[in-house]
This record gives sequence, C-alpha cells and structure tokens, in this order.
Amino acid sequence: MSRIGFIGLGNMGGPMAANLAKAGHEVLGFDVADINVDGIARTTSVTEAAAADLVITMLPDGPIVRAVYGDIVRAAPVGACLIDCSTIDVESARAAHEMAADAGLLSVDAPVSGGVGGATAGTLTFMAGGADAAFALAAPLFDVMGQRAVHCGEAGAGQAAKICNNMLLAISMIGTGEAFALGQKLGLDPQKLFDVISTSSGHCWSVNTYCPVKGVGPESPADKDFKPGFAAELMVKDTQLSQNAASAVGASTPLGQHAADLYLDFVKAGGKGKDFSGIIEMLAQRSR
Ligand code: NAD
Repeated sequence: MSRIGFIGLGNMGGPMAANLAKAGHEVLGFDVADINVDGIARTTSVTEAAAADLVITMLPDGPIVRAVYGDIVRAAPVGACLIDCSTIDVESARAAHEMAADAGLLSVDAPVSGGVGGATAGTLTFMAGGADAAFALAAPLFDVMGQRAVHCGEAGAGQAAKICNNMLLAISMIGTGEAFALGQKLGLDPQKLFDVISTSSGHCWSVNTYCPVKGVGPESPADKDFKPGFAAELMVKDTQLSQNAASAVGASTPLGQHAADLYLDFVKAGGKGKDFSGIIEMLAQRSR
C-alpha cells in the first residue's frame, strides 16, 4: 500500500481520493476549500500533502497546476511520482513535467474521461503521457480509480489525446442535436429517427449512449432536465483548449472552432450549469 498525496478534492478529486482510501492506501488530502473526504487525512498545505511517494493533482486549470507544482516539487521526496489528472493545456502539462524532472521526480499527465459518475464508481478512463517508468508507478492507482488507462506517449500526450477526444465529442453532440432538431421540424418521430440512426452509419456515442432527446435511447441528462453529467462550461473549456493547441501547431480544425463558438454561445445564452447535450435546445430554437 502506498502513501499518496491528493491535491484538489473537488467534484472529481473527492471521490477519486475516497476510492484510493477505500482500497487501503494512506491518502493525505489538501484543498484550498474546506472539503472533507471519507477515509483520508486532511492536511493544511500543499507541501504537507506532497510528502508522499505518489502525488495526484485534480485542479481547475493550467496556471493553478503550475503554481501548485512549484510547491510540490520542493516537498516530494526524490524518486516520487507526480500524477496530474486535471484537464489543462498541453504547454502547462509539459512545463509541469519539466519542473518535476528538474527536482529528480517522475511525472505523468493523466487527464480522465468519465465524469463525476465515473470518478465515484471508479470507472474512469485515464489518458497518460510520460516516461514508461512513471506510467508503471501510476498504473496501479489508475486501476483503483478507473477501468482503463492508455499510455498515449511522452510528456503532454495524455492532454493532447483528451482535447482531441473532447473536440470530436463536441462536434458529434452538435451534429446529433442538429439531426434530431431537423427531424422534428420535418415531422419525424424522434424514437423512429433514433431507431434508424443508432443502427445506421450516423451511429455514435452521442446518439446511441447519450441521446439528447427526452425518453429516447438509454437514460441520459435529457431525461433529467439536462442536469449534468458533463457541464456545458467544461465543454467550453475543453473546446477552447483544443483550439489553442490547434493554433499552436497550425492545425486546421474548422468544425472544432465552430463547435467551440457554439458552446460559448450556449453557455452565454443560459446553458451554464446544464449538461453539454442541452445544446440541442439552442439549436432547435434557432431558425435558419
Ligand atoms: P472542481 O472545481 O469541483 O474541483 C477543483 C478543486 O481544486 C476545488 O475543490 C478547488 O477548491 C481546488 N483548488 C483550486 N485551487 C487550488 C489550489 N491552489 N490548491 C489546492 N486546491 C485547489 O472541479 P472538478 O469538476 O473536480 O474538475 C477538476 C478537473 O477535472 C478539471 O481540470 C476538469 O476540467 C477535469 N474534469 C472534470 C470532469 C467533470 O465532469 N467534472 C470530467 C473530466 C475532467
């Protein structure tokens, strides 16, 4: 069993830390907010939590991760492995890896997919970047907190994979919303349209697993008044990260850019706090 520092005990980090404690690990937790998590020892500073063999961070954004890493690298013992599970920009992820290496520490960027439900159930997917030796140290913890971990490549590769996936998810959810909104305006029964698309070439996760139409397909946020789930403002964050990364490498992503713009419109037009699949309502209300 390992001694694990866990920094950032919010909606995702809290249940992830709880699962590590449940599995018998000693977990030292820290958050700037007053948050208690079952089974873990609360500390009063980053440096106190980082005096551990493995240090996990689950924080809001790149600047915060960089700032917190400034404290972690001074406190973690040489040879410790730092695992950043936050979704952040690739550049900050690489900077965090460099800070760790300069201090004689191993590191992995390991953003997750699966949301709060996956964090609670221990069924997250981890997308990891970093050296083989670092991934090997982190892998047993990924097994506790999730059901799948893919080692995507070197430093920053996990973040790169995450934003490519979420850019595609944003595009496919908007496409799904457009198809069902058009179908409705053409007088189609949404259940019949689902029966066709979910078994035809338009099938995808957004239709088959997460259909944004109430009463159609498996249970999804559409059945709960678009309570998240995965909040629209987090999709704004992820699509903007994808477009910043695309600009940095000169990649053409016209649909990714359009999806980022539409999600920003949705959040500004009342979508904040709703599930990202609720964008169908905005699309359906618009006229050509
Ligand atoms: P959250 O806001 O609930 O949690 C973040 C926590 O970090 C908060 O409790 C906050 O107090 C703490 N924090 C902020 N600054 C800190 C500091 N300097 N030191 C210590 N703690 C600090 O957010 P969340 O939903 O748990 O998301 C965390 C990360 O996971 C984000 O990067 C997000 O994009 C990513 N993510 C979230 C989801 C989701 O569905 N919520 C899904 C996948 C990925």
